[in-house]
Amino acid sequence: MEESHQSASCTPRHLRSPPRAGSKPSPATMASQDDLRNRRPPVGLVYDDRMCRHSTPDGEPHPECPDRIRSIWTKLELEGIPQRCVVLNGKEAEDEHIASVHTNRHIKLIKAISNKEFDSQRDRVASKFNSIYLNKGSSEAAYLAAGSVVEVCKRVVEGQLRSGFAIVRPPGHHAEANEAMGFCLFNNIAIAANFLLDKPELGIKKILIVDWDVHHGNGTQKMFYKDPRVLFFSVHRYDSGTFYPAGDDGAYFMIGEGPGAGYNINVPWEHGQCGDADYNAIWDHVLLPIAKAYNPDIILISAGFDAAIGDPLGGCCITPYGYSLLLMKLMDFAQGKIVMALEGGYNLTSLANSVFACVKTLLEEKTIKGSLRDHPFDSTWRVIQQVCQRLKSFWPFLAAEIPQELLAFTRKVTQTQLIYNSTSDSDVENEEGTPSQVCSANMVEEVGDIVQPFSNLRVDEDKHGEAKTTDHKTNDQDSSEGYPVPETSDSKEIYKKHNPWRIAYSKIDIWYATYGSNMWKPRFLCYIRGGKVEGMSQPCYGSRDNSLPKAVIWRTLPHRLFFARSHTYTWGAGGVAFLHPESNTNERVHMCLYKITLEQFNDVLLQENIAIQHLDSPLFDLSSLQYVSENNSRVLEVLKEGWYPNVLYLGKEDNLPILTMTCSLSDVERCKSGDLPMVGASKDYMNVLVKGLVEGKQLSEDEAIAYINKAASANL
Ligand SMILES: [Zn+2]
Repeated sequence: MEESHQSASCTPRHLRSPPRAGSKPSPATMASQDDLRNRRPPVGLVYDDRMCRHSTPDGEPHPECPDRIRSIWTKLELEGIPQRCVVLNGKEAEDEHIASVHTNRHIKLIKAISNKEFDSQRDRVASKFNSIYLNKGSSEAAYLAAGSVVEVCKRVVEGQLRSGFAIVRPPGHHAEANEAMGFCLFNNIAIAANFLLDKPELGIKKILIVDWDVHHGNGTQKMFYKDPRVLFFSVHRYDSGTFYPAGDDGAYFMIGEGPGAGYNINVPWEHGQCGDADYNAIWDHVLLPIAKAYNPDIILISAGFDAAIGDPLGGCCITPYGYSLLLMKLMDFAQGKIVMALEGGYNLTSLANSVFACVKTLLEEKTIKGSLRDHPFDSTWRVIQQVCQRLKSFWPFLAAEIPQELLAFTRKVTQTQLIYNSTSDSDVENEEGTPSQVCSANMVEEVGDIVQPFSNLRVDEDKHGEAKTTDHKTNDQDSSEGYPVPETSDSKEIYKKHNPWRIAYSKIDIWYATYGSNMWKPRFLCYIRGGKVEGMSQPCYGSRDNSLPKAVIWRTLPHRLFFARSHTYTWGAGGVAFLHPESNTNERVHMCLYKITLEQFNDVLLQENIAIQHLDSPLFDLSSLQYVSENNSRVLEVLKEGWYPNVLYLGKEDNLPILTMTCSLSDVERCKSGDLPMVGASKDYMNVLVKGLVEGKQLSEDEAIAYINKAASANL
C-alpha cells in the first residue's frame, strides 16, 4: 500500500475533542447538555485524494469523476466541518475481508488492473462489464473505498466514533460477487457489513442497510438475500423495471429468501421526480416502523445522492433539507450508530450540499432548516400499499391501513411531469446503463407550473413567444445554510444572465430539419414545451425557451433514410430513424423543417443525445455553424456517446441555414458491418412517423407506411 502523503493511514488529521472511547457520560446533573455532547465520541470522516486517481483512461468526461469527492471535500472545508470531526485517511481493504463478498477471481482481477502488464488489456476488460471504466488508479481506489468503509464501521462499533461518513469512490452497491458493474468495482458496504458480522467480539448481530441511492442496490441485495442478519432496504427508481440496473431485482416482491425472507425490502418508484415528501412518507410508513421492530445494532447507509435535486442521472428532487430529515429520523435507532458510505450523485453542487447537510446532521448541529413543501405523489401511496401488502406477514404492523386523510392529499404526476425525464429517440449507452436526464437545481421551481398536459398546449405558429407562465410557488426554504435556493418567478431571466450565450442564440434563427418522429409536430413540440405524446414512455423536459416554431415547411432532400438500433428508452423495442450523413442524389427523404432559434436547437440536440451536462455553454456554437456551412457536417465531440451527435448542413431556406442531426459516418459503417443492429420501427414509433407524414400532407397513410418500410428494409 502506498504511503499516504498526508499522514499515516486512518490516523486522525484533526481532532478538536479527543475521542473518549468507552468513557461513560457523567450524570446529567453534573453537566450541561453541551458538555454532555462534547464528551460523546466524535463524528468521523474519511477523505483521501488517492481515490481521485481512478478516472477514465483518456480523460473523457464521465459522471462518476474524481471531482465528485473533491467537490464534497471543498464544501466541507469551506464550512469548517473537518475541524469538528475526526478526519481519517483512506485505508486499503484486506483481501480476506473482500473475499467474504467477492470471488477470488474478481479480487485477482481488480488487483491486477493497475499492473503495467495490464496496460494493453484494461479497456478490453472494462468493456466486458456493464458501465465500467478502468485505469491505472482503479485498483488502489477500489481497495481504499472498501477498506475505508470497513475502518469507519470498526471505529463506530468500537466506540471511537459515534458515527461516520466515508467519502469514497468508486461506489459499490451495484458490484456483485463476480462482477463489477454500474461504476462499482467492490461492494464497499457489503464488505463492511460482513466484516462486522464475522467478528463476534464486536457484538454486531443485526445490521440495517438503507440504500437511498436512486438506483437499486442489486449487488448488496444479492449478498444478503438469504441472510436475516442484514435487513436490506432500498428505495429507488424502478419505472416498471426499465430504470438501471433494470429487470425484476428491484421490484417490491423481491423480499428475500429462506431465513432471509422478509428482510429484503424494495420500494420501487414508478417514475422520477420523487422528492422530500415522497421519501418521508416511505420513512414514516415503511422504513421506521420496520427499523423499530428490527432493532439493528448499527445502520449502514448506501448514501448515493443521485436522487438529489438537479442530478443529471436520477431525475428526482430530494433537497439537502430532505436528506437531513431522512438521516435524522434514522439516528433514533442503533443508539445513533450510523455509517454512511458514498455511492452515486453526479451533480457536483447538489452532491456537495447534500453531503454537507448530512454531516451537519450527524454532528447534531440542529440548524438544518426547511419544510416539506409538497404532498407525496398518488403513486407513492400506491407503492407504500404494495410494499406493505407484500410484507405484512413478516411485519404485521404493516397491515394497518393508511389514514384516508393522508391519501386525500396527493399530487398527481401527470400535472408535473416535465423537466426531469428526458425523452429522445436515442439512449446514451454505458452511463450506468440508463439514459440520463437533465435536471438542474434552478429548474426545479418550474415543476408544477410550467407543465401542462400536452392536450392543453395551444399550438399557434404565428405568435412567437406565447409561452405560458404562471406564478411560482413561494419559497419557504431557508437559504442561510448554503443550500440551493429555488428560483423566483424571474428564474428564466436569472438563468439567462448566467448563460449569456442563450441571450445571443435566442436571436438567431435556423431551420431544424426533421426526418423521424419529430416530423409529427405534437411530438416535436415535446422538445420545446416539455411533456410527451402517445407511445412515448417518458416525457421531455423541453427547451429553456418554450416559444413555438415561427414557421413549419416541408422539403424533400437527396439523402438516405434508414433505421438502426434495436431498443430505445422512449419507444421500447425497435429501431429509430437516421439519415445517412452523405447526400445521395438517388434518394429522397421527406423532411419537416421547423424555424426555431439556435438556442432551441441546442436544447433539442441535448435531448436527442441525452447528454450528461448542463448547457453552461452551447453544444453547437457559432464556430460549429460556420464549420458545417463550409464542410457540411460536424460530429460534436461532447456528444460523441449519443446517437445523434453529427450536425448536418443541408443548405439554406429563406437565407437561413437548414440543420439536422444524425449519427456519425462511423456508425453507418458499424451498421453495414452488422456491428450495430438495423431494426425497423416499433409500432408506436411507426405510428408517429406515419402521423407526421400524413398530417403534414406529404403522403397518404399507405404511402407513408410503404416509404418507411422501404427505408427500413433496403441495404445501406
Ligand atoms: Zn446511483
